[in-house]
Amino acid sequence: MLVVLRRIVQEVNAAHDLQQASLIIVSRVKQAMSVDVCSIYLLDHVEQQYILMASDGLNPEAIGVVRINQGEGLVSVVGETQEMLNLSNAPDHPRYRFIAETGEVSFHGFLGVPIIHHRQVMGVLVVRQRSLRCFDEDEVAFLLTVAAQLAGAMAHADARGDIKDFTETPAGKTNRPIVALPGAPGVGIGTAVVVYPMSDLDAVPHRKTLDTATEILALEQALDAARTNIKALDASIHPELGAESRALFDAYLLMLNSETLIGKTIERIRGGSWAPGAWRDTINEQAQLFESMDDSYLSERADDVRDLGRRILAHLQHQVRRQPDYPLKTILVGEDISATMLAEVPRERLVGVVSARGSSSSHVAILAHAMGIPAVVGASELPVSRIDGCELVVDGYRGRLFVTPSQAVRDEYTRLAREEEELVAGLEGLRELPSETPDGIHLPLYANTGLLSDLAPSIESGAEGIGLYRTEFPFMIRERFPGEEEQRTIYHEVLKGFAPRPVTLRTLDVGGDKALSYFPINEENPFLGWRGIRISLDHPEIFLVQLRAMMRASVGLNNLHLLLPMVSNVAEVDRALQLIGRAHHELLEAGEPVVMPQVGIMVEVPSVIYQIEALAARVDFFSVGTNDLTQYLLAVDRNNPRVASLYDALHPAVLRALIQIVAGAHLMGKPVSVCGEMAGDPVSALLLLGMGIDSLSMSAASMPRVKSVIRSFTVIEARQVLDQALQYDDANTLREYLEQALEQQGLGGLVRAGK
Ligand code: PEP
Ligand code: MG
Repeated sequence: MLVVLRRIVQEVNAAHDLQQASLIIVSRVKQAMSVDVCSIYLLDHVEQQYILMASDGLNPEAIGVVRINQGEGLVSVVGETQEMLNLSNAPDHPRYRFIAETGEVSFHGFLGVPIIHHRQVMGVLVVRQRSLRCFDEDEVAFLLTVAAQLAGAMAHADARGDIKDFTETPAGKTNRPIVALPGAPGVGIGTAVVVYPMSDLDAVPHRKTLDTATEILALEQALDAARTNIKALDASIHPELGAESRALFDAYLLMLNSETLIGKTIERIRGGSWAPGAWRDTINEQAQLFESMDDSYLSERADDVRDLGRRILAHLQHQVRRQPDYPLKTILVGEDISATMLAEVPRERLVGVVSARGSSSSHVAILAHAMGIPAVVGASELPVSRIDGCELVVDGYRGRLFVTPSQAVRDEYTRLAREEEELVAGLEGLRELPSETPDGIHLPLYANTGLLSDLAPSIESGAEGIGLYRTEFPFMIRERFPGEEEQRTIYHEVLKGFAPRPVTLRTLDVGGDKALSYFPINEENPFLGWRGIRISLDHPEIFLVQLRAMMRASVGLNNLHLLLPMVSNVAEVDRALQLIGRAHHELLEAGEPVVMPQVGIMVEVPSVIYQIEALAARVDFFSVGTNDLTQYLLAVDRNNPRVASLYDALHPAVLRALIQIVAGAHLMGKPVSVCGEMAGDPVSALLLLGMGIDSLSMSAASMPRVKSVIRSFTVIEARQVLDQALQYDDANTLREYLEQALEQQGLGGLVRAGK
């Protein structure tokens, strides 16, 4: 059964739509379990009915027609209890109901399992037997596994709007959003452009073409290139390889000339698919053919087909590596959006970003925030490869996404987007005004940056300095470690842009979810592993280059503040200070007129909270990285959408930690800034004002909203709100309370779409 299961999983994954996936499931399950019927019932939540969506064994005319009201029959029992129901004689069950239209005459054996996705019942999978039959444990486990597989396919289909084909609501257009996570505030309406990693067959998006000749030519060129490549490989290494390996190369060459592969791909291209999509489908089809063979030698050949498929795809992607045509209003969509993918889209065309992975504080969200682009992240239900070219609405406030929205949804969001523009235009006027409360308390607002391209918005935003410059971004977009002079030039640009205002450069913070392609780190638990200062201290040769570049960049400006990330103990700070002292000394000796910068540490690891005074005796300032502090305090991976609902910087524990940090640092006369995403969230900023935080650092795009809050609440009022906030045991209800507080002050538009 395991083999059957594996095959079903593969076939369902390769299915084009839910209809095809369902047909595969009912026929394979019926055969594998030797039952008389296998059926799938889909729950229509609006009509509160189970619809017979697919069946092998029941009257085909009943499909899509038979509807069972919720509460009726055994199917409903399975849905209600969210548990399997295994009956040797179904008519004995008090809730049994006979349904004539399906042609079910005298069925006895019944096994039903719920299809559940993210705690929600999507439908029921049922097998029936004419004779009495009680299904054994293995059979139950088998059906449960198939149902779990089906749940994923159904969720994807639902996200695409395909489920409507079954539930008979107006086809194609959707009012129901995909629920994901807020990435960056704002509303974006545009066309999806799917970006994807290279050489990954499954990631190739479905895309249509009208220019079949060009696509066929690209395919032929890719095949030629691959043939040359394989021949060269064979000639260069085959003396050391055994006959078996040579046979593999020969087999590859045979496959590359095979009519089945090439002919079928060309046929698909002529049918309207672009070449990479046509190639993916042909390879999947061939691989499945091999997999379905009972002979183990032959079934393992499927891996060779897939390997060959990837090789040709790489060549093909090289041939067709044309920039996608970015529509005027592009919404960039991907499983995982990287800094480079974002940078490739012309800024004026980018109106939204959607990432299937990540959460509100992951780096794609931070980048989108910095660029002022509405973003939705953690959209794990989105069938990414199938929505290229679809119209999308992105609600970056609530983390909602509409694929091919209905006219009503589009109109509503167009209105909200217009109001949004008016709101932003209204906030523009705040730029020249001080970040001061009505009772005259000044709370400086600094900018977070990392990309040179976002320097201009930071300067224009009226920021009083840079509170966090993430130096890893210039490292990430290069192909090797940047040299000392190269780094000096980048840092100088930033320091000069803001002088005489302070600029806080953070030393390299790679590791975790920030990888350098040329410095791979493979770890089981990267967020608890080798990151930030830990890497810098282990590689003084890299760290010293960076320190020297920073200090030299500040010569004549002297506005450098230096920030150390991921500190977890005092010894790290002592060692880092030693190296900073050494770099300073060496530069002076070399005749460079460098000035010792102020040095601070990030508060991101909970251990720092409990040693704040010992650390305060060593450094000049603290900057709280609430993104990591929240992740480490709550033990919730900031990038994992599955646990994203547990991740909230308004958690009472995070608020209390912040209060403790401020108290300890102030006792020692050291200032505290907050530079995590929390600082740019208007409701959180109100609490931070009440706590006595000395400055806030955020993306330029967040600044007007936060300034508007600061200019609307006196410190006394902010403290009262904080006192009240500390009474809440739960972040969700606290957020509602805070949003209400802003609403009462006439600032509701800062935290939701519209004015
Ligand atoms: C943080 O952790 O809050 C922070 C600002 O650092 P980063 O987001 O770059 O990890
Ligand atoms: Mg951090």
